[in-house]
Amino acid sequence: MHRSRRTKILATLGPASSTKEQISELFEAGADVFRINMSHSSHDVLNTLVETIRAVEKEHNSPIGILADLQGPKLRLGEFADDAVTVEAGDQITLDLKKMPGTKNRVELPHPEILDALEVGHRVLVDDGKVELKIVKETKTSAVAEVVSGTKLSSRKGVSLPDTELGTGSLTEKDYKDLDAAIAANVDWIAVSFVQRPEDVAEVRKIAKGRAGVLAKIEKPQAVAKIDDIIELSDAIMVARGDLGVEMPIEQVPGIQKQITRACRKAGKPVVVATQMLESMISSPTPTRAEVSDVGTAVFEGADAIMLSAESAVGDYTNEAVGMMDKIAHQIERDPNYPPIIAAQRAEPEPTGADAISLAARQIAETLNLSAIVCYTGSGTTGLRAARERPPMPILALSPVVKTARRLAIVWGVQCVITEDASDLDDMVDRACRIAAEQKLARPGDRVIISAGVPLGTPGATNMLRIAFVGSDGQSGV
Ligand code: PGA
Ligand code: MN
Repeated sequence: MHRSRRTKILATLGPASSTKEQISELFEAGADVFRINMSHSSHDVLNTLVETIRAVEKEHNSPIGILADLQGPKLRLGEFADDAVTVEAGDQITLDLKKMPGTKNRVELPHPEILDALEVGHRVLVDDGKVELKIVKETKTSAVAEVVSGTKLSSRKGVSLPDTELGTGSLTEKDYKDLDAAIAANVDWIAVSFVQRPEDVAEVRKIAKGRAGVLAKIEKPQAVAKIDDIIELSDAIMVARGDLGVEMPIEQVPGIQKQITRACRKAGKPVVVATQMLESMISSPTPTRAEVSDVGTAVFEGADAIMLSAESAVGDYTNEAVGMMDKIAHQIERDPNYPPIIAAQRAEPEPTGADAISLAARQIAETLNLSAIVCYTGSGTTGLRAARERPPMPILALSPVVKTARRLAIVWGVQCVITEDASDLDDMVDRACRIAAEQKLARPGDRVIISAGVPLGTPGATNMLRIAFVGSDGQSGV
């Protein structure tokens, strides 16, 4: 399916978007990648959703990306005798491992590794930061916390630890099982939640073994502090602003978003901006002006993708939310300020054949006003490096590998078509021109630039550029 939008859209699936009709409508409205949230999906639901998305993909004859999002260590308080207690600043409450209903004076924190890692001075944020506690005394199995702010603690509320580095990795038992199920279901991307260290990403890579791309969700200050190393080890990054805004001062989130987006563009790794982008559309057919502006900012920064969470998973206006993102992105990408802003953040090429070719292809295409950049890519690397150049014309990636085509669905500006490797140079040029015409990226008489590796089909050998006319039959004209 032809789309002229460069910024991709990720839509989270849920109760409001799980039938084939619903998923098909979201795709038609503009969703390029679907996210399955493992916090809320059993393995049966995962398998059914993947099957349904593949059926939609087949009907539309267009590769669709699937991302399985692992829950990660979601920490929770134990239970209170009366479900909740009221607190005020200065109160002290002990956190321990006793499986007894909580009171104003103590409550269970059923995570021994956390109690072990807490130190005096660390903050414990309860219920998305509504209550802030500070540790004033600790032993190996308990900790005394003083209430800094907030009024109510209730049973099973979520706990965030912005200051504590946990000794364990960021994968739980559930995550390991979900990861296996997601790989078996043949998803294209695995999202790792609450990454703290590069090692957390390495652990998932080791299990995924290239069968799925690994996306690190940046939602903890520890990850922000090691962002360059995490980007290097990851195949993609998500600015997970929901938890990031709890774990860090919320006013720092816009700056961090910009910093991460720029670092990812420099590294040539896809970056997704997520959470509360069109939050009010969960229950309203139109977004707030501030939300439209927020989506606009992410697009202006050249983010690869923008994401919907509850808006598409449980909202009343799922298709409208995707349609709204599509409209905003289109409009921003046509804004006269968009090309210079995008170009100002363009990264210098690294000293590799792929980068030299990608830079040259973009420059030739700009100089000659060509319609599209066509690249043959097996692993997807050439497609990624072409996107890193953020060229003003569409990138058509041709790959014989279905997995590559699906994985590239998350990448800025890349349209991927599955096609066999070319048999010789004439076939390479004809095929590129024909598919560019079929995809409505070029018309007869237009010219495109094609990058490929000779000998054809050799991985990692992109080493030639060819300018070609699209003939009246869609094949090459010369
Ligand atoms: P979540 O991640 O929706 O899985 O919490 C995104 C975020 O925290 O922003
Ligand atoms: Mn999160």
